[in-house]
Amino acid sequence: MSSKEQTEQHVGQKRSAQAAETQNYDIAIIGGGVVGGMLAYHLAKYRSHVVILEKEHDAAMGQSKANSGIVHAGYDPRPGSLKAILNVAGSEMMEEVCRNLAVKYRRNGTLVVGFGEEDQKNLEILLERGKQNGVRALSLISGQEARAAEKNLSERVTCALNAPTGAVVCPYELTLRAIGHAMDYGTDFLTDFAVSAIHSGTEAVCKKSASAPSEMDEPDAWSEAENGYCIEAADGRQVRAKIVLNCAGLFADEIAAMVGDTSFHITPRRGEYQLLDKEAGDLVTHTIFRTPTRMGKGVLAVRTVDGNILLGPTSEDIEDKRNTAVTAAGLETVAVKESEFFDHVPLQMAITQFTGLRAHGDQGDFIINSPRPNFLNFAGIESPGLSSAPAIGLLAEALLFGETVCPSGAALVKRAGLAFPLIEAGTLAPARKEEWKPQQTERVSFRELSLEEKNALIAKEPAYGRVICRCEEVTEGEILAEIRRNPPAKDIDAVKRRTRAGMGRCQSGFCMPAVCEILAKEWGVPLTEVTKKGGGSYILTGRTKGAGASEAEKSLAGTADESEQARELRADKAESMPREAYENGGAKQ
Ligand SMILES: Cc1cc2nc3c(=O)[nH]c(=O)nc-3n(C[C@H](O)[C@H](O)[C@H](O)COP(=O)(O)OP(=O)(O)OC[C@H]3O[C@@H](n4cnc5c(N)ncnc54)[C@H](O)[C@@H]3O)c2cc1C
Repeated sequence: MSSKEQTEQHVGQKRSAQAAETQNYDIAIIGGGVVGGMLAYHLAKYRSHVVILEKEHDAAMGQSKANSGIVHAGYDPRPGSLKAILNVAGSEMMEEVCRNLAVKYRRNGTLVVGFGEEDQKNLEILLERGKQNGVRALSLISGQEARAAEKNLSERVTCALNAPTGAVVCPYELTLRAIGHAMDYGTDFLTDFAVSAIHSGTEAVCKKSASAPSEMDEPDAWSEAENGYCIEAADGRQVRAKIVLNCAGLFADEIAAMVGDTSFHITPRRGEYQLLDKEAGDLVTHTIFRTPTRMGKGVLAVRTVDGNILLGPTSEDIEDKRNTAVTAAGLETVAVKESEFFDHVPLQMAITQFTGLRAHGDQGDFIINSPRPNFLNFAGIESPGLSSAPAIGLLAEALLFGETVCPSGAALVKRAGLAFPLIEAGTLAPARKEEWKPQQTERVSFRELSLEEKNALIAKEPAYGRVICRCEEVTEGEILAEIRRNPPAKDIDAVKRRTRAGMGRCQSGFCMPAVCEILAKEWGVPLTEVTKKGGGSYILTGRTKGAGASEAEKSLAGTADESEQARELRADKAESMPREAYENGGAKQ
């Protein structure tokens, strides 16, 4: 498809999405993290009308943005628990899911290292547990064998659990592609939709309805008849759905409380990281863990799927679910603990630090239940939630559409000991979309192409000849493609998560102005309205020098000596979505 056709399709999606806020849905998924994303991926196979409601400006903004990216083999969780069953199943599914969604995946294997007899005993317990959980190919190895596999490991390491099925993925890439795929098959994605109240059918007070646009203070026929839910956002928008799936991560307890379920509590557990430059990339190949303690798996060292070294995370319970600050004490802890693994930790190569908050539930396991008719919790999905997400999606498919249409999911439901079905009979029709395919169209990653392929692509699409991010070698063509496909990039960080522009050594010092200009042109907004991550996170407040307009502004106004590309961009902009779409969260709104 040509870029113009792509733009038209993209614009069409955005325009049709404008109406979505007052529509009725079969299924509303609250939370656009990896769990909500994998649910949407599986549920989009069916003719049901699905919406994802996300409080942030983009998908993957919670735990699914800031984690270790490890696909755990599954030796850690208690046998028989949901964590164990879904981790092992998810890990088995992950490679194929990533292939289908064109998400990077590397099976690098995991080593859990120990330092003496007590750790050796704990590793033997882990080995046994892993076997009970059905993890393949686990073995205990000596310190020497561990060092033969990982040359930089300290002489102090005396033993290790070797788990060759461990792997790495990029968690936000997986989330975005799962949601994008679901959107390609008709799922709506409403961003900046912070769910603030949920009313059940009998008490529904929806004031707006696609079928009856006038204001109504009484329950309407649809919600009464279908026993659905009316879901309200903090900004006043409302949607209605027959079934609600609570995938709100850290806030899942607050969402459950909106329907009167106060049976669990989520505590934010802070994890701080150091990210090192790719030049430190040969520090490790396997994922290295320390033998776990009561507070979790301890710190790890891993080469991410994109080639950086990631060190951390710490583990500390805090109160504020929004506090993602990085602390000096946390980074010191990372440095001290990592020095157990390696004699020299190249912290001078750190390019950034970040914090992720785990959604730690108080039930000792993932919370998957139905506290109210047609309302399902997928809560307390802390680690190994990323690893488990494909299996959670499959499980949800069986729970909603039944064992006949989803036998593999039904097998998981039975192993997990969940009541079947979890929704009221007849709420959904299990009719599949004939056209649904698990695969997503391949994307161009310019830096991975051969010289010949690069030249051929540039000859066809000149925007691929303009490198915007020098550290990660990201071209304008890739950025434009990500603004035009589902879910579209609407801000600087969204471009960064999709293309890696700004992820490199300079951390967007060089490319941010260019990315700003591309976003402003494509979305048809002034530069001063481009944000880092939605809300009030504006990059520019106004002109500080000179009275003339910038090249970008001139180009938008049509007064500059335009390059062909600038003209193309402006033409696209003229056709592109109305400004309200940008303000309203973009696609599918
Ligand atoms: C530090 C850390 C390290 C981890 N490492 C690993 C690992 O290596 N391997 C692994 O398997 N797992 C790991 N995990 C766990 C994994 O990240 C999570 O299990 C997984 O991301 C959970 O996904 P989720 O979709 O449930 O939650 P989230 O990604 O948090 O998504 C929930 C979404 O709901 C949205 N939301 C919340 N409230 C509302 C509302 N009121 N209205 C609308 N939307 C709302 C949020 O904005 C968010 O986007 C780690 C987690 C952390 C924090």
